Amino acid sequence: MLIDSFKRPIDTLRLSLTDRCDFRCVYCMAERMCFEPREQVLSLEEMERLCGVFLRLGVRKIRLTGGEPLMRRNAMRLIRVLGQWVNEGLLTEVTLTTNGTQLAKVAADLAEAGIRRVNVSLDTLDAERFAMLTRGGSLPQVLDGIAAARAAGLRLRINCVVMRDVTSASADQLVKWCGSQGFDLCFIEMMPMGQDSTVHADAFMPVSELRLALNKRWSLIEIPYRTTGPATYLAVAETGGRIAFISPQGHGFCHECNRIRLSCTGMLYPCLGRELSHDLRTPLRQGATDAELDRLVFAGIAQKPAHHAFSAGRSHALPLRTMSVTGG
Ligand code: SAM
Ligand code: SF4
Repeated sequence: MLIDSFKRPIDTLRLSLTDRCDFRCVYCMAERMCFEPREQVLSLEEMERLCGVFLRLGVRKIRLTGGEPLMRRNAMRLIRVLGQWVNEGLLTEVTLTTNGTQLAKVAADLAEAGIRRVNVSLDTLDAERFAMLTRGGSLPQVLDGIAAARAAGLRLRINCVVMRDVTSASADQLVKWCGSQGFDLCFIEMMPMGQDSTVHADAFMPVSELRLALNKRWSLIEIPYRTTGPATYLAVAETGGRIAFISPQGHGFCHECNRIRLSCTGMLYPCLGRELSHDLRTPLRQGATDAELDRLVFAGIAQKPAHHAFSAGRSHALPLRTMSVTGG
């Protein structure tokens, strides 16, 4: 089993299939993005080999992310291999975080490949606001994708990044709609990543404030339900559904962090909220043996810090990379 230097067991890998995306969400990417040169992006075979290393070392859950993971050409090839590992009992779960644009095309294939749960990012049900936030995205396309995923039997959680004006105007409608559809709804506090953090500074709203506002309109009941991540869940009495909050502001969940991240270029990131990384691609391409790769992963995990740098009064530099490098 992988255990870091703070005795935290690491059983979850987030793998970014690509840094590219068909959206340019204002809190995630710049309008004009510079993507990684293609030759630096791992092939699907290289990703499979590295997943095999993590599996051998004790990783049991893999979440595919990006950029937009479903924009990666032939992504289904790798997803089928990972799904097969789930069928064989080697992994307990493979999940996906997506913006939903490709779901109408691939939801049935995902379900067939062994995916059971999908997180779809959706910050508002207002088409105009949605287009503005995603810089050109189509809400009906995403809603079609969500409907296809539901019809294919996938369990869905809707992820909403909290922005003061947008979420204040959209949260009630999202709570109601998710409740009626049977989707969990997770409000995520905006994290100041990337070099241009004007949006983060201007639109930031702590989830604690949103929770207080929602509490006035909905009967929110504490429940013991947890998934493997850092979200705190509450039941909504009026809808019968669940909402969740992720608040990186404090270090509330760092002590139980169970994950590591691999970018599409083969950089191992031991913490989402730090600049630290560890190159696995170069040794992989230079012919490293399995034992050598194991050692490199151990070395990367040994660097996993006690906590991220997002909190106020931080004593460490914020990550300069955008969220799309590691995919949340
Ligand atoms: N493209 C996919 C999507 O949007 O779901 C996967 C990658 S995206 C980077 C993963 C998650 O990170 C999404 O739920 C997105 O809303 C969230 N995210 C992006 N930038 C963020 C930020 N600055 N703070 C908090 N969450 C962010
Ligand atoms: Fe793309 Fe997801 Fe980032 Fe939006 S949050 S720009 S959909 S990677």
